[in-house]
Parts: sequence; C-alpha cells; structure tokens
Amino acid sequence: MDEKIYIIGAGLAGLVAALELEKAGFSPIILEASDRVGGRVKTDQIDGFLLDHGFQVLNTAYPEAQKYLDLNALDLKKFTPGAIIFEGKDFYMVSDPLRSPLGAMGTLFSKVGTFGDKLTLVNLVRKLKKLSDEEIFAKPSLPTHQYLRDCGFSEQIIANFFRPFFRGIFLEKHLNTSSRIFEFVFKMFALGHAAVPAKGMGQIPEMLRRQLSKTQLYFNTPVKQVAGKTIQLENGELIEADRIVIAVQPDRVMPQLQGQFSSPQQVTNLYFSLQKSFIAKPMIGLVTGEGLVNNLVFMDDVSKNYSENGRALLSVTVLESELEEKTLIEAVTAELERISGVSSKYFQFVKSYHISHALPFLDDPRYSIPMTECKISDHVYLAGDYLLYGSINAAMTSGRIAAEAVVHSYMRTY
Ligand SMILES: Cc1cc2nc3c(=O)[nH]c(=O)nc-3n(C[C@H](O)[C@H](O)[C@H](O)COP(=O)(O)OP(=O)(O)OC[C@H]3O[C@@H](n4cnc5c(N)ncnc54)[C@H](O)[C@@H]3O)c2cc1C
Repeated sequence: MDEKIYIIGAGLAGLVAALELEKAGFSPIILEASDRVGGRVKTDQIDGFLLDHGFQVLNTAYPEAQKYLDLNALDLKKFTPGAIIFEGKDFYMVSDPLRSPLGAMGTLFSKVGTFGDKLTLVNLVRKLKKLSDEEIFAKPSLPTHQYLRDCGFSEQIIANFFRPFFRGIFLEKHLNTSSRIFEFVFKMFALGHAAVPAKGMGQIPEMLRRQLSKTQLYFNTPVKQVAGKTIQLENGELIEADRIVIAVQPDRVMPQLQGQFSSPQQVTNLYFSLQKSFIAKPMIGLVTGEGLVNNLVFMDDVSKNYSENGRALLSVTVLESELEEKTLIEAVTAELERISGVSSKYFQFVKSYHISHALPFLDDPRYSIPMTECKISDHVYLAGDYLLYGSINAAMTSGRIAAEAVVHSYMRTY
C-alpha cells in the first residue's frame, strides 16, 4: 500500500505504532527530532559506562512489554525485590515488601512499619492481584498520599518506605499522583520483577526498531508544525501526508494546543563512579527525609555491562531541583558522604541528565482509550504516554491504539 502515513516521534509509542501499521500492510515513515530511537528511553556509552537517560526500569509483568518485546533476548537483569533504606546515618534492608509482605522485612520490620502495616500490605496485595488492570483504572482517582492513609497505613511506613519508593516512580515529592497509577505499579511489582536489559534500557527501543522492516526512519528531522494534512519541518520543508500519527505531546507541533497540558514532572539523574559499590547488591537504595537524593543504585551491581572499566557506577535520582549543575553536584556529593560514610573525595562525577519532560502529570489517568479518542481529525491521530499514564506500558498501548485507529480509518474508506 502506498498511503503516506507519517509518524512524528520515534519513542516507544511511535515505534509500536509503526510496528502495528506494518502488520496491517502499511509502510510508515517516522520523523524523529533526535539522532536515534527511544525518546525518553535511551542509553549513552561514555568512558566505559552505560548511562541510561534517567534511572528507569522495565517491569516484567507489563502486558504490552510481554507482547512487543522478547524478554529473554533482552537478557534482563532483575533487581532483588525490596530496598536498602538509608535513614540518617543508619541503613538497613527491607526484603520484598510488595511481593510477599508477610515474609518481608524480617526482624527489621519494626524500623519500617507496624504490625498493622504488614497486614494492610497483605490485604492490598491480595486485593490488587484479583483486579484486572482495567478495573484498577476504573476506580476513583485519589492523590496517592490520601489513598495510603485511607488504606490505614501508618505515618511510619509512609515516611520510611512508600514516600521514597513512590517518589522515585512518580518523580514528584508529594505523592499527588493518582492512586490508580499507584495500584497499577503496586500490582506490577507484586506480580513481576523490576529489571534492566543487560546492555541498558536503550535496548528496549532498539529491539522494537529491529522488528521494523518496511518503515523509513528519518533522524534529526524535527517537525515544526502540523496543519491539516501538512507537516512543516523545522527546516521549512512541507510534506503532504495521508495520515499523521503525532507520537509526541501534540502542543509541541500544534501551537494552538499550547497550555492544554499540565506541567510535566522533571528529574535530574547524576552518575558517579567509585572504586567499589557501598551497596554490593542489585537493590535500589531509598533515602528517607527531605534531602536532595531520593534514590540511588549501583547499576553495575544489577548488570556488569554497565561498567566495563572496573569502576562502580552509581546512579542518583534528584527530584524537583532548581540548582545549577555545579552546585547540585557538590551538594549531592556531600549528601552521599553523609548517607554512605564514604568520603566525598572518592565520588567521581561522570555525567548528569536533566529531564524536563520526564512524566506527564494526569488527574484522570486511564489504562486505555477508545480509538475514537486518539483521532483529532480524519487525518491526524495521537499517541504517547500523556494520553494514558507515564509508563513504558502506557506508551506502547497508546501506539497500538493510534495504529488501530489509522487502520480503521482506511477500512471505512475502502
Ligand atoms: C527519568 C525517567 C524515569 C522513568 N521511569 C520509568 C520506569 O521505571 N518504568 C516505566 O514504565 N516508565 C518510566 N518512565 C516513563 C517512560 O519512559 C515513558 O512513559 C515513555 O518512554 C514515553 O514514551 P513516548 O513514546 O510516549 O514519548 P517519548 O519517549 O517522549 O517520545 C517522543 C519522541 O518524539 C520526539 N520528538 C519530540 N518533538 C519532536 C518534533 N517536534 N519532531 C519530531 N520528533 C519529535 C522525541 O525526540 C522522542 O523521540 C520514566 C521516564 C523518565 C524520563
């Protein structure tokens, strides 16, 4: 078929849309502003390290990931469930609180929460495992902080576990993110494993790209504007399309939509190298309190490939910081010294990533939408996590639905 179907953006949503369009017999064309696929899921190779653009994980229970990715071929390296909690100068391990709450935490349970919390966790796991993802997203949407209190969790477990853990997932400090997303993520952690591909998160979009055989990909091709069926590139070139899938927040290419989307969460991810890991386990470190560092992980403890130069690679997540880079690095290094007891002189700064559009903030997140809702005209369709909720799973869902809507539009035409 020689219909000219253009996809704007080669993030996960755009790639899955292309894959589905190919399956339906089309040969789409992707216009991507940057130099490679992946969007927010990218990995750089620098000085013998693999650096993901922001700490993120793939959950093996994500339904769309199971559909579009060969999880075995990704050579996933799983995190040990649970976390190392850094509380002041103290630290301790919490094992598997979401997957097996009764066995969790062992003798250290009393540091994290009350006995009542343990029972509440057990009940929550049981309840959520019985609900489908669609049922979870059909429930009322509350701010997660309120939801946790309504569930009956103590202030202790909220402060010592839920707050740092879910801040690192929601990328916002106040846990204002919808309880629907909390329940979905909680269920995913209870059913699956957090993991990274051995050679970095960037392997995920690469695997999608390798499945494309009829799609043309144009990199370094930013789109300035979409008007009707016409795409205007930043370089002034005009392209006439039969169908357009906008797989990026649409206000970026449709100026009339500016101001229609709430401000996204932003995050800074700093990498340091050290002689050796002070965690020495494939586990996430959660820092309680109100410092800069929210969570940290030694990526080479999870997958050896993240460091090929013999040094340990520490990934540090900082939320909502306005500090300029030099000041931030100094403040974070000082905090890491306090947390770990390792002198700041041993922390060698590698690189930082400030991601200003990390996750969409949505009052009414949805698991899925009908095809009609991603269609904004007979020729223009939308895809992207901002339509549903911020997640790899959601980006893939949205790409699939947009492609289905395009295919459906031709079924009506012929
Ligand atoms: C730090 C961080 C941590 C995260 N952690 C997790 C996690 O642990 N688990 C999880 O499931 N999800 C996580 N996410 C969310 C997940 O990465 C995103 O939801 C998902 O990647 C979004 O994909 P997308 O295709 O919708 O958008 P994007 O990835 O943003 O793709 C949009 C693409 O469009 C391109 N583009 C933009 N403007 C133009 C233009 N004008 N012309 C042409 N191309 C354009 C961009 O370059 C990009 O390639 C995290 C995200 C971040 C940033």
